[in-house]
Amino acid sequence: MRLRTENASFAYPGKTDEEKRYLFRDVNIDLEGGGIMAILGPNGSGKTTFLRCLMGMRKWTSGKSYFDDKDTNTLSSKEFWNKVSYVPQQRMATSSFTAFESVLLGRSGQIGFLSTPKKSDIEAAEKIMEELGIIAYKNRDCNTLSGGEFQMVLIAKALVSDPELLILDEPESGLDFRNQLVVLNTMDSLKNKGISCIFNTHYPKHALQKADCSLILGGKQAYFGKTSEIVNEKTIEDVFGVKAVINEMKVNGEVIKNIVPLYISS
Ligand code: ADP
Repeated sequence: MRLRTENASFAYPGKTDEEKRYLFRDVNIDLEGGGIMAILGPNGSGKTTFLRCLMGMRKWTSGKSYFDDKDTNTLSSKEFWNKVSYVPQQRMATSSFTAFESVLLGRSGQIGFLSTPKKSDIEAAEKIMEELGIIAYKNRDCNTLSGGEFQMVLIAKALVSDPELLILDEPESGLDFRNQLVVLNTMDSLKNKGISCIFNTHYPKHALQKADCSLILGGKQAYFGKTSEIVNEKTIEDVFGVKAVINEMKVNGEVIKNIVPLYISS
């Protein structure tokens, strides 16, 4: 899997060209198989819009994106969605499907219109629920699940179609300490299986700890590169107007980065 953008820009339309407000300009990302990419930026900086353009739900104002070196404009949505899954920002279940039925819905590409699920579909749904540690609430109605439990159901639903790329919009927002770790660790284990992840996040710390590369929107320019090179005190101050310090802790021989916001600087 390789996903690239070439000078990708986006502006919501205005009555005149001057009224156009660019959310981001000339963004060049490059994510290759098995990588984790974080997208950071203040509220309203265009993170969700960037994801929507990547997935073809909105058109870039200018620039292009390429999936496996094919211009995404030339890919059918079936070709794209056979390889990509999306977990939107969604905290509460509004349907009364059971957790298992919801996960099974993620196989609809394989099951086909008006067909019934095959044994292999049912096994795939059970297997992913086992792997994600949510098999215990297989028969629970989704609207009885907590936000964290439901988030894991949505991730299972996205993964049951065996994607090469998983796109998650703020997957850890609103989750408690433990469930945040469950989601972040899930991305690690997907990476070990060669599945790439892109996630929008409000937590620079999560980018520092998990993401191989990061995109930062909302500053004087868009920054993209290795997380260790671009998520630093200078870019955080430019983008968020917050003076912060990044420090490192050694735990069981592993170096873990943390970031502490100090004060609002601009
Ligand atoms: P983020 O995910 O970083 O919070 P979004 O991509 O959701 O940012 O939104 C970026 C900006 O675009 C926000 O200021 C939002 O109000 C604006 N916006 C979103 N949708 C539309 C729209 N359909 N028309 C005009 N502006 C929009």
